[in-house]
Amino acid sequence: MQRLIRSTFPSLGYLQSSKFSSIPAPKSSPEILYTGIFINNEWHKSIGGKIFLSINPSNEQTIAEVQQGGKEDVEVAVAAARDAFKFGSPWRRMDASKRGQLLYKLADLMERDRIYLASLETLDNGKPYYMSYNVDLPMAISNLRYYAGWADKNHGKVIPMDGDYFVYTRHEPVGVCAQIIPWNFPILMAAWKFGPALATGNTIILKPAQQTSLTALYMAQLTKEAGFPAGVVNVVPGFGDTGAALVEHNNVDKVAFTGSTEVGKKIQQGSGLSNLKRTTLELGGKSPNIILSDTDMNHAVETSHFGLFFNMGQCCCAGSRTFIEDKIYDEFVERSAERAKKRTVGNPFDLTTEHGPQIDKTQFNKIITMIETGKKEGAKLVAGGNGYDGLPGYFIQPTVFADVQDEMTIAREEIFGPVQQLIRFKSLDEVIQRANKTDYGLAAAVFSKDIDKINYLVQGLRAGTVWVNTYNVLSAQAPFGGYKMSGLGRENGEYGLQSYTEVKSVITRIPMKIS
Ligand code: NAP
Ligand code: MG
Repeated sequence: MQRLIRSTFPSLGYLQSSKFSSIPAPKSSPEILYTGIFINNEWHKSIGGKIFLSINPSNEQTIAEVQQGGKEDVEVAVAAARDAFKFGSPWRRMDASKRGQLLYKLADLMERDRIYLASLETLDNGKPYYMSYNVDLPMAISNLRYYAGWADKNHGKVIPMDGDYFVYTRHEPVGVCAQIIPWNFPILMAAWKFGPALATGNTIILKPAQQTSLTALYMAQLTKEAGFPAGVVNVVPGFGDTGAALVEHNNVDKVAFTGSTEVGKKIQQGSGLSNLKRTTLELGGKSPNIILSDTDMNHAVETSHFGLFFNMGQCCCAGSRTFIEDKIYDEFVERSAERAKKRTVGNPFDLTTEHGPQIDKTQFNKIITMIETGKKEGAKLVAGGNGYDGLPGYFIQPTVFADVQDEMTIAREEIFGPVQQLIRFKSLDEVIQRANKTDYGLAAAVFSKDIDKINYLVQGLRAGTVWVNTYNVLSAQAPFGGYKMSGLGRENGEYGLQSYTEVKSVITRIPMKIS
C-alpha cells in the first residue's frame, strides 16, 4: 500500500512522507453540526428564509440543508465585520503577536479535528479521504501556521527622505475583506484566505461555493473556539448572487476571489463599479507540461498523470496540455494510457481509491461534452471517455487523448476534469511559442535532465509558477498566482501579505534646533 502511494504521487511531499498504514480510518457518516450563517460568532438563519441542499457527489444524496445568505444577510455580515474593524475595537487593539497566537490555536483545533474535517470534506466534495486527510488538511493547517508566524513580523521601513524629515512606513490592514472561494479545495481555499487576512488584522466575510459549504462552516465555529473576537470572521453560505452582493458593497474594502475567469471578470467590474475595492483574483488555467526526450520516462509519465488527474482534474493549475518531444511521443502515449486505465475509481472513503466523482451534475455534463468534442474534432481517444452508466454519482473514467492539435477545443479550453491531452512537439522555440499561445498563465512544468534546456524554457514560459521535474507542488511559503487571464496578485508566502495591507507613510519633521 505504501508503495502505491509513493509511486502514484511522487511529487507531493505530504504524501511521500506519510505512512499509508498510519492513516486513521475516516468517519464515513460524519455528523453535520453547522449549516447556518455565521455572523458575530453566532449562528443565524437566512433572513429571507431560504435554504439550499448540499449533495454528496458520490451517490447524489442530500447531506444537509444549508441556510442561504441573501443580500440582507450580507448587510448584517458587513456591518459586523465593519464594527469589529472599528478603530479601538478589541481586534484593532490586539497585539500582533496575539493575532498570531489565535491563528496557531485555530490550526491546532483543525489538527485536533483532522479526521472529522477530512471526512466531512470527502462527504461534501467527493475527493478521496486519504487526499483530504493527507493533502487538504495538512496544507490548510500549515498555511495558518505560516501566516501566524508573520503576524508580528510584517513591519515597515525607515526611509532616508530628503530634507529635515524622517519617514517610516506602517503596514496596516486593508479593512473588511470579502473572500469568495470555489468547491475544488474547500477547506484549503478557506485557509489560504483566512491566514494572510487575519495575520494582518483584517476582518472577513467568506462566501464558500454552494456545493461545498460544510467544512468552511465548521472552521467558522473553530475560529470562535480559538478566541477570535466577534465579527472578525463571518461566513455567509449562498450562491453567486451572495458573492455579487459582497463585491458590490460599498462598505467592503477588498475582495479576494478564486474561481473561473468568467466570474473573475465580473468581480473586477463589480469592484470597479462600487468603491474600487482592492481585488485579487486566482482564476483558471490551461497549463503546459513540457516533456523533453532526455527525461526519466517513468517519473515523467507518473508525474504528468498526477499533474492532470489529481483531484479528478479539478485543479486550476492542472497540466492540461502535455507537450511531448517527438522522439518519445509514442511511448509516452502508450504508458500514459496504461497508467490512466489502472487508476482506481470508486468510493472516496475506501482507502485504495485514487479517484472519486466530479463535483456535480453540471460539471459532469460539461466534461462529457468536452470529451465528445475532442472525439469529433479528431483527437484520438486512448483511455476512458465515458461516465459509468447506471451507477449513481458523478464519476468519469480517467480519459486520455493523443494526437491533440493546438486549435482543438480540448487544447484551448479549461476542462476541469479527468481528461489528459497529449500533444507532440519538435523544438524548444516551437514549444515555448505554442505553450504561451493561451490567455491563461497560471502554471507550467518542464521535465528534463539538461540544465541549459530547463533554464531556457523556464525563462520563456509566461506563467506564475514553473515546476521543474515535478508537478502540483504548492506550499504556504511559495507565492502562487497567475499571469494574464489566470489572475491578479499572489497568494501564499510573503508576497501574499501585500494584498491584505495598505502602506502608510508617516512623515515627521525633525527640528534642527531645540531652543
Ligand atoms: P465560479 O462560478 O467561478 O465560482 C466560484 C465562486 O464564485 C463560487 O463561490 C460562486 O458561487 C461565486 N460566484 C459565482 N458568480 C459570482 C458573481 N457573479 N459574483 C460573485 N461571486 C460569484 O466557478 P464554478 O461555477 O464553481 O465552476 C465553473 C468553472 O470555473 C469550472 O468549470 C472551472 O473551469 C472553473 N473553476 C476554477 C477554479 C480555480 O481554482 N481557478 C475553481 C473552481 C472552478 P456559487 O456557489 O454560486 O458557485
Ligand atoms: Mg458557479
